[in-house]
Amino acid sequence: MSAREQYLEALGVDVWKPRTRRAPPVAAQAPAAPDEVAAASLAAAGSAAGPAGAIEAADDAAWEALRAQVSVCTRCELSQTRTQTVFGVGNRRAEVLVIGEAPGADEDRQGEPFVGRAGQLLNSMLRAMGYPRDTVYIANVLKCRPPANREPRPAEVACCLPYLQQQVDMIQPRLIVAVGRVAAQNLLATETPLARLRGHVHRFGTRATPLIVTYHPAYLLRSPTEKRKTWVDLKFIRAELARARSGA
Ligand code: SF4
Repeated sequence: MSAREQYLEALGVDVWKPRTRRAPPVAAQAPAAPDEVAAASLAAAGSAAGPAGAIEAADDAAWEALRAQVSVCTRCELSQTRTQTVFGVGNRRAEVLVIGEAPGADEDRQGEPFVGRAGQLLNSMLRAMGYPRDTVYIANVLKCRPPANREPRPAEVACCLPYLQQQVDMIQPRLIVAVGRVAAQNLLATETPLARLRGHVHRFGTRATPLIVTYHPAYLLRSPTEKRKTWVDLKFIRAELARARSGA
């Protein structure tokens, strides 16, 4: 079954099957370069574990320091209503970083982004891209749930975004996939509608990381007629990743 067929079938969209089938693409996972913080720690430490082990240890230490900082963060008022912070999950050397809006009720309870039905649909989208969930990193613009799932406020985004920027700097992904209008508009500091943000390669953060916008799976669950449009986005994402890997 082709990636398109897998994707549409997973989303519950009727699939027309051609006679000739193509093999599904296989995503290559090139490891990201060691981050600069880890390299600096290596030079200072002179670890007996060897360069690779020392870099990994410094990398782990940097991640745990950031996670600990976030877990007790009180920079904004969302700290007063959260059950717990939702730091992010996945492969720290991922090629693809998926960024959503903010934790919902399930995420606030479980401490992991994109769980529940929306998470399952995201998993289907990722598989269709050739990047199963465990190969990517997943985070949100905000690390605490806004009460009653209201939209993030500008002050909250301003407080929380530096954490996400640090994660981007450590992961150094080839591509960021912003899912949903709220994530896209906050990451790109724009009020441009989602429909006009799709289909373009934008840039995010100090590294000017390529960023592509698509629909939020929760929106697709509410508006199933839009599911086919996400296939166009996923093909665009796959093409951009292939181009980035080839160095073109
Ligand atoms: S949303 Fe971000 S800035 Fe606000 S309290 Fe949570 S971790 Fe801190």
